[in-house]
Amino acid sequence: MIEIDGQAGGGQLLRTALALSLCSGEPFAMENIRGKRERPGLLRQHLTAVEAAAQVGDADVDGATPGSTTLRFSPRAVHGGAHRWTIGTAGSTTLVLQTVLPALWMHGVEASLSIVGGTHNPQAPSADFIAHAFLPAMARMGLDASFALDSHGFYPAGGGEIRMALRAGGKPAPVHFGERGPVLEQHAEAIVSAIPAKIGERELAIARARLGLGDGEASLREVRRAMGPGNALSIRFRTEHASAVFTGFGIKRVTAEAVAERACAEARAWLAADVVADSYLADQLLLPMALAGGGSFTTLAPSAHTRSNAALIEKFLPVEFIYTDHGRGRWTIAVER
Ligand code: ATP
Repeated sequence: MIEIDGQAGGGQLLRTALALSLCSGEPFAMENIRGKRERPGLLRQHLTAVEAAAQVGDADVDGATPGSTTLRFSPRAVHGGAHRWTIGTAGSTTLVLQTVLPALWMHGVEASLSIVGGTHNPQAPSADFIAHAFLPAMARMGLDASFALDSHGFYPAGGGEIRMALRAGGKPAPVHFGERGPVLEQHAEAIVSAIPAKIGERELAIARARLGLGDGEASLREVRRAMGPGNALSIRFRTEHASAVFTGFGIKRVTAEAVAERACAEARAWLAADVVADSYLADQLLLPMALAGGGSFTTLAPSAHTRSNAALIEKFLPVEFIYTDHGRGRWTIAVER
């Protein structure tokens, strides 16, 4: 039984522990879950991740109740098949997906997953990030899966839906994501649901100005099927060897201009550093690379979040993460056995 002190991080530590436990078959006990957060313990979205992991891994679970700060999780065997999970709030669907995906992939099983909740949440990968940044990287590592965003879900209404079909066979293979190569495509999409289109147009004006987007490289999407109001700006790049997405999330009392400026600043930092992975993708590449037993990627200076996640992975798997600073904000993170 691996023992983990959850106050070293947030929900990410819990999700990584669930994913690793499913992959390795090792049970774990976590205390002080999200111990330093304003509302510590398990929230709705974390409970859905636990429930999803327990179903996929046929696990015995203790402590999966709202607000609980301890959890024991003992998996038996990983099963594929069809699953549908409903978070019940605007909690992030993509984070639940990332909890179970590594184990399904590692075990080479076929699965079809559908998850209902938030699809464009601040502090989580948006469904666009999954489709256009995370999954292209996973595909290079050998993942054979298709992904669809059926309907958008924004905070606070939620109710969006994502789907993934995972084909059987294959395991993550080591890949070295080094050079990014020239930008081949760039596009900014402003998404608005039940709010004035003008808000999206103001975001696009900033994106055009800051990123020098040309005709046909910016578009407005008015979503009609979402359960409630919402807004996001999604800026995509495809380069010769990489894909990236930067997201601005519209929130009350923050101007459309400020939302767009923040997303553009992230995009420009990534463009200037000439790296493959921004800080968020870096977080999300650690686990698949550790499961592959090798690989590396160029990225921005590693965040405390990336380092705590890497340290937890080192507790479960016989791997070590090596950080190399090349100067001017360009780093490489490599995983070695
Ligand atoms: P809490 O801190 O409330 O416990 P948490 O631990 O679940 O929440 P984080 O630890 O911040 O939240 O993890 C969120 C995950 O979402 C990380 O993998 C991070 O890389 C990813 N993420 C956050 N913002 C973005 C974004 N704008 N684009 C892509 N991924 C993101």
